[in-house]
Amino acid sequence: MVAEKSTEKNSNTEEQLDVLAPTQVVIKEALEKLGYSNEMYELLKEPVRMMTVKIPVRMDDGQVKIFTGYRAQHNDAVGPTKGGIRFHPNVTENEVKALSIWMSLKCGIVDLPYGGGKGGIVCDPRDMSFRELERLSRGYVRAISQIVGPTKDIPAPDVFTNSQIMAWMMDEYSRIDEFNSPGFITGKPLVLGGSHGRETATAKGVTIVIREAAKRRGIKLEGARVVIQGFGNAGSFLAKFMHDAGAKVIGISDAYGALHDPNGLDIDYLLDRRDSFGTITKLFNNTISNKELLELDCDILVPAAIENQITKDNAHNIKANIVVEAANGPTTLEATKILTERGILLVPDVLASAGGVTVSYFEWVQNNQGYYWTEEEVEDRLEKVMVRSFNNIYETSVNRKVNMRLAAYMVGARKMAEASRFRGWV
Ligand code: GLU
Repeated sequence: MVAEKSTEKNSNTEEQLDVLAPTQVVIKEALEKLGYSNEMYELLKEPVRMMTVKIPVRMDDGQVKIFTGYRAQHNDAVGPTKGGIRFHPNVTENEVKALSIWMSLKCGIVDLPYGGGKGGIVCDPRDMSFRELERLSRGYVRAISQIVGPTKDIPAPDVFTNSQIMAWMMDEYSRIDEFNSPGFITGKPLVLGGSHGRETATAKGVTIVIREAAKRRGIKLEGARVVIQGFGNAGSFLAKFMHDAGAKVIGISDAYGALHDPNGLDIDYLLDRRDSFGTITKLFNNTISNKELLELDCDILVPAAIENQITKDNAHNIKANIVVEAANGPTTLEATKILTERGILLVPDVLASAGGVTVSYFEWVQNNQGYYWTEEEVEDRLEKVMVRSFNNIYETSVNRKVNMRLAAYMVGARKMAEASRFRGWV
């Protein structure tokens, strides 16, 4: 089992920073630049629907534990909402809300017929058994079943959830719905209607975006020094793709520490030894901290773990020429400003990590048609979508003289704002 993305237990921020308020600041700025009224901002600053659920789970020791879960649906003007479910001890209501807004922006950027949604359960799957995880996954689906479905809101994997969890959730939904409903959820195993290329999609998308960004900066991928924070779904496959492209991956990390080798790490060996949560550094004695990893001298830095890793405290020490956000929300707003002022090209999360939802869309289309594509077909289409989206945002950023994050928010918000206007909501 490969869990989607990793986590950082030893993040370099003491307390958890709120991610909703800064997201709203950029949404407001983007809507103003696009000429929308404050009413549009009032509609888009929060999800239109937010469900909090309590999930009782019989644990293996016989006791019942009550878990808290959320499902946020940001905006459904364009179409059904779409986005992953994360299992993590630090999940909060505001985080899930922000993540659902980011999903709307991603769908707008890559031009999918969806709005954004997101789910989360406060739990630590690293401390739970396989059967406990199954009961929790099924309980969550029963709890949110009224507001989700293949034409309403389509979940997917996110931090610490994977194709097995998607399979249990699809099975549970199919019992409630009384039909086999593969289009209820994406990121499923291939034999249950999953798509070729979904597991590697986020990392493939990031790889394409890195290649395009490097071209703009005149950096050759061959021999470029790459540092990746996180060794989960995105980080681990990305390390492999970068290595295959001839880049030198000189640093990687997991929740417990980081590895550094200026001559390049042995990625195939590390991939072979990682566990399903992306843990690898425990096997080594000479590790460095995540803080040190982020500040390594390199050409390309990819935060591929969790939120708030590059902050005002370390942004001045980042040495990379390009920072590509494979995680959701790894850079704070103050840090975005500092990196931009320092001339570092920052490719924002809502663009860089949109490959995952793009192939999720392909999976849903295949489920709806009952006709399945080859791996090549998936990859060709993903390539076109990511290149077009990168160029669109890069050019918007240059033409409108704004940083790439604001440009991405402008591109991402436009479609849902237009759809909301045509529907007569604002
Ligand atoms: N969890 C992924 C993301 O944050 C994928 C969502 C999806 O495939 O719907 O983009």
